[in-house]
Amino acid sequence: THFGYETISSTLKASRVGAVFSSVASNYDTMNDLMSLGIHRIWKDNFVRGLNPGIRGERKEGQRILDIAGGTGDIAQRMLDHATLVNDDKRTHVTISDINPEMLAEGRKRFGNSPYRLAKRVDFLEANAEDLSAIESGSIDLYTVAFGIRNFTHKDVALREAFRVLKPGGVFACLEFTPQLSNPVLNGIYKRWSFGAIPLIGQVVAGDRDSYQYLVESIERFPSQGEFRDMIREAGFLIPGRNGVDEEGERMGVGQGWEDLSLGIAAIHKGVKP
Ligand code: SAM
Repeated sequence: THFGYETISSTLKASRVGAVFSSVASNYDTMNDLMSLGIHRIWKDNFVRGLNPGIRGERKEGQRILDIAGGTGDIAQRMLDHATLVNDDKRTHVTISDINPEMLAEGRKRFGNSPYRLAKRVDFLEANAEDLSAIESGSIDLYTVAFGIRNFTHKDVALREAFRVLKPGGVFACLEFTPQLSNPVLNGIYKRWSFGAIPLIGQVVAGDRDSYQYLVESIERFPSQGEFRDMIREAGFLIPGRNGVDEEGERMGVGQGWEDLSLGIAAIHKGVKP
């Protein structure tokens, strides 16, 4: 238990992830704003800016980006906007992939008849991140996953699939909550908020306490930043540091191999396929 709130992971297992996201799909964007007090927008902007999607200049083809667990298209939208507006790249393409058809339906709604859809710069793929057999090996420039990987049953398998589909030099990038803040006092306040307020907001706004309780619990179960960096490395990726990529992260001496956001509530991890 956490502060008197009973954990329900034993009754609501990962096998119910599908049901959880089917239930939250239509309220997903509003709930994200409420639960994170709007901060998820800043994190997502930061994530995309740091990846600088798109290619400047006259190169014939843009990038091929795969946004896994892409849900309602938040990351894809930012990526296409950045490529187009910042890099003047009107070719870069994003595939939004998600295991859940209801979440993808929200994404389709969002892009409707948008110029990106009409220009065929965005498409949708229903797939489990652990089995991307619909995607050719070595075909992707940039693989992103935002607030998705903690829901995957076999994270190691998903990481190996990410490695397989990326081109050599391709980048894996993940934005995810962390299980714990490094400052214990702030961690206590944050846990009270997440275990207290979030299921309550879920109940009041979406009429679904259990799904939001599951989402909070899935954050607790996710590996720490260091452990997750090691998992990325074990899948074959090089971990980028401030001085470029070093095969042995321990020798990097340039930071830990990830970027903490908002006191470490969330973190960005990257890996480069050699
Ligand atoms: N990336 C979006 C964002 O940042 O707003 C959506 C994140 S949402 C919290 C998590 C998404 O992960 C859901 O759309 C869910 O369907 C998807 N998901 C869960 N398990 C998955 C799996 N094994 N493979 C692919 N997607 C999965």
